[in-house]
Amino acid sequence: MKILVINSGSSSLKYKLVDMEKNKVLISGSCERIGQDGSFIKHRRYDGSHKEVVENLDCHSKAVLQIKKLIMDSEVGMIKKLSEISAIGHRIVQGGDLFKGSVIIDDKVINGIKSLIPLAPLHNHAHIQGIKACIEIFGKDIPEVAVFDTSFHSTMPPEAYMFSVPYKYYEKYRVRRYGFHGISHRYVSSRFEELTGKSLNGTKLITCHLGNGSSITAIRDGKVIDTSMGFTPLDGFMMGTRTGSLDPSVVTFLQSKEGLSPEQTDQILNMHSGLLGISGISNDDRDITKAAAAGNKRAILAQNMFIYQIVKFIGSYVAALNGCDAIIFTAGIGENQFSHREKICSNFTYMGAKIDLNLNRTMVSGKEGKISSDDSNIDIFVIPTNEEWIIACETKNILDEMK
Ligand code: AMP
Repeated sequence: MKILVINSGSSSLKYKLVDMEKNKVLISGSCERIGQDGSFIKHRRYDGSHKEVVENLDCHSKAVLQIKKLIMDSEVGMIKKLSEISAIGHRIVQGGDLFKGSVIIDDKVINGIKSLIPLAPLHNHAHIQGIKACIEIFGKDIPEVAVFDTSFHSTMPPEAYMFSVPYKYYEKYRVRRYGFHGISHRYVSSRFEELTGKSLNGTKLITCHLGNGSSITAIRDGKVIDTSMGFTPLDGFMMGTRTGSLDPSVVTFLQSKEGLSPEQTDQILNMHSGLLGISGISNDDRDITKAAAAGNKRAILAQNMFIYQIVKFIGSYVAALNGCDAIIFTAGIGENQFSHREKICSNFTYMGAKIDLNLNRTMVSGKEGKISSDDSNIDIFVIPTNEEWIIACETKNILDEMK
């Protein structure tokens, strides 16, 4: 069974063709700069053959049309007939409290995802474009499934997901914590179970997705009890360009001092803050690391803030879980920045967490495994995330349920 996984953004569209029996990615690619000048597609087959197509992709349909051609291409493709694709799985960022699990896409689901656009304007609008383009190009005979980033977090109790603003705003606008990166947190937690043979039942996990966007989740018995991202992916701790949590008065203060509109404020908090805002150098942690090593004070401050805020979140989740059996690191920074992992974990020696420095240093570039020492009281793991695999599995499960 082959499943096409689509992750559609406003100006990009990533795709993977997954062979479910072989647990293998056959094809991966991304369409970049959709709707802008200089659009192109990078396409790669599992055997290394690849193609870069420079093409005017003025809308998502044009991008999906090119994807269809590439996956059926005689040199870099994998299929001869469209019917070889059993289903298409879409990553959807915001499912609100409408979607607690994955669903087969029909008009009602499309309208549901549309109704949530105000809660994730950039993401959900782009997802609708991706879904519509796939229906148009691949036809209605191939089932399409929506897999939500929020649904893994739907087990949070109200005391974790409510914000202490007047209750009427929850009733009127569904203002609450939803959490994001759920597909990634879910993948690494289930992979932890596979790797260790320890059942998630009775296990307390803290999963750290540290990338350009970052979030930390507390998981008990395989179910999320709290997560750092909130109403939108802006909440939590400092990220590449996002603030994370801050005193809300800072927002109203800056708005009145600088005469900022809600849109301008949104831009500052989402695009000009975080590692970039503090360092003034870059949102990319590799650039910050170089600058910090050269003694740049703001780069050093940015990294210290990032690590400190992560430590505080993990610590608060140890409290919320009343203990912790394992900490898992994933995503670009979590998978590669071993010195950050070392610094973060050094704050948890009080509960017997011990990192194996040699193991930690070698666990980079897609390697997976334990980095805690044998005499550590808790397991510490690096598990490269694989969101596409969860999307493909969920899509397959929905197909199986339909049979
Ligand atoms: P992501 O959003 O998961 O793609 O992660 C992006 C972040 O991961 C950026 O801040 C990168 O600096 C960081 N990152 C990615 N690869 C590496 C690497 N090999 N070494 C250090 N940091 C990395």
